[in-house]
Amino acid sequence: MTIGVDDDERAFPQLEDGKALEESWLQICSRLKGEVGEVEYRTWLTKIALGPVDGDEITLLLPTRFLRDWVRSQYGDRLSELWNQVMPAIRRVELQVARPGDPVAPPLALSEDSSDAVSIAEPEEAPRSAPEVRSDLVTALDTRFTFDTFVVGKPNEFAYACARRVAEKPSSVGFNPLFLYGGVGLGKTHLMHAIGAELVQRGNVSVAYMSAEKFMYRFIAAIRSQSTMEFKEQLRSVDVLMIDDLQFLIGKDNTQEEFFHTFNALVDAGRQIVVSADKSPSDLSGLEDRLRTRLGCGMVADIHATTFELRISILESKAAASGVVVPAKVLEFLAHKITSNVRELEGALNRLIAHANLFGRPVTLEATQDVLHDILKAHDRRVTIEEIQKRVAEHWNIRLTDMSSARRARAVARPRQVAMYLAKQLTSRSLPEIGRKFGNRDHTTVMHAVSRVAELMERDPAFAEDVELMRRMLES
Ligand code: ADP
Ligand code: MG
Repeated sequence: MTIGVDDDERAFPQLEDGKALEESWLQICSRLKGEVGEVEYRTWLTKIALGPVDGDEITLLLPTRFLRDWVRSQYGDRLSELWNQVMPAIRRVELQVARPGDPVAPPLALSEDSSDAVSIAEPEEAPRSAPEVRSDLVTALDTRFTFDTFVVGKPNEFAYACARRVAEKPSSVGFNPLFLYGGVGLGKTHLMHAIGAELVQRGNVSVAYMSAEKFMYRFIAAIRSQSTMEFKEQLRSVDVLMIDDLQFLIGKDNTQEEFFHTFNALVDAGRQIVVSADKSPSDLSGLEDRLRTRLGCGMVADIHATTFELRISILESKAAASGVVVPAKVLEFLAHKITSNVRELEGALNRLIAHANLFGRPVTLEATQDVLHDILKAHDRRVTIEEIQKRVAEHWNIRLTDMSSARRARAVARPRQVAMYLAKQLTSRSLPEIGRKFGNRDHTTVMHAVSRVAELMERDPAFAEDVELMRRMLES
């Protein structure tokens, strides 16, 4: 049996302070409309509906994934700022795709004419049927992720061995909890699913796998629908509980607390816990101390960055499984060029294979360079935050240490903001990650820097030119 968790049950009752929220939202809408213009506003922003508030975070709902991504990238920062200005208690804005049945406030059409200016050719996410029984029997295991398809090498052999061991003998002393950690795309989720698949295949064990994010949504929904008891009982009835990407719970104190209790109850009852995160328990600052301590007291296994040898083995194995002949030269070329993580490596190979199948042409080094042109280019000029800080500090003549210092004099603060802005533009780092590199600043500080610089660039062409020049230098 596999227990997963679905989103469909998020049932949020009317917000207590619904009226104030609505009013704030109207205010924000009218400001946004003034800023972005009628057409933009009508095309994108009237589609937003108010969702629930959780602590200092408000959720805004969009009808499709496409719209959500678009609004997030184009207006996300501005929305946060405006909310924060109009309603200081709100410090963060979360954008989500609305599910059928989400009880949301109707979209606010400020204009009398509510017809859509542009129709968006994006299919809605497949409507999910409401669960008939409250049993949450949703299979969440990805069948591609098994031990058989996992390629073992130096960087991951220890984590692999631990995962195998847990799959063979769940709840062994010393292996509970199993804590897997490592950077993105290195196989944590793959290993967790492999454990689940193996256990389910042998039968008679109930396995629950969910991301920490889902755990949180589910928990919040349970609180709101006053069904926390059921939620707890469901979780405590499983033999193996796996929670992926635990770092997501950082800052979500209530959810951490609940996770901790469930965790203790399960371990005390002799059940197995498997957890993954991007850092070791001791480095997960922001998680409660006693939770970190408990997490670290079973087996902690690190998945290291890939080596050239492992990348080659993975490519060989995936190429062989695809049935397309990929010359060794091409595999070596890819393993040299794409070093970030397995996910990207796999993506590149898949594209090559799809291309070969589509056109029925053999894979050659030349074809590879051609087909993967954009990916390879992106990997050629990967700018780091350190580089950005160095170049910006040089250009504006400040000390490199001031990038992380607490000094707030304009002469220092402005270049620092520019560096944050460029870090956001040129790297794939998240706001919190960027904040950490700038003397452990909060992500809202980074957000503020990004919008401040954008604003200044609009007002001051000379400044804009300076920043653009900097960007081009860093990109080349
Ligand atoms: P993480 O959860 O650590 O971010 P994933 O488990 O999602 O990473 O892995 C990303 C992709 O790379 C998946 O498609 C996974 O199957 C593949 N992958 C990662 N490591 C390996 C490996 N050692 N062998 C085969 N595939 C791997
Ligand atoms: Mg993962």
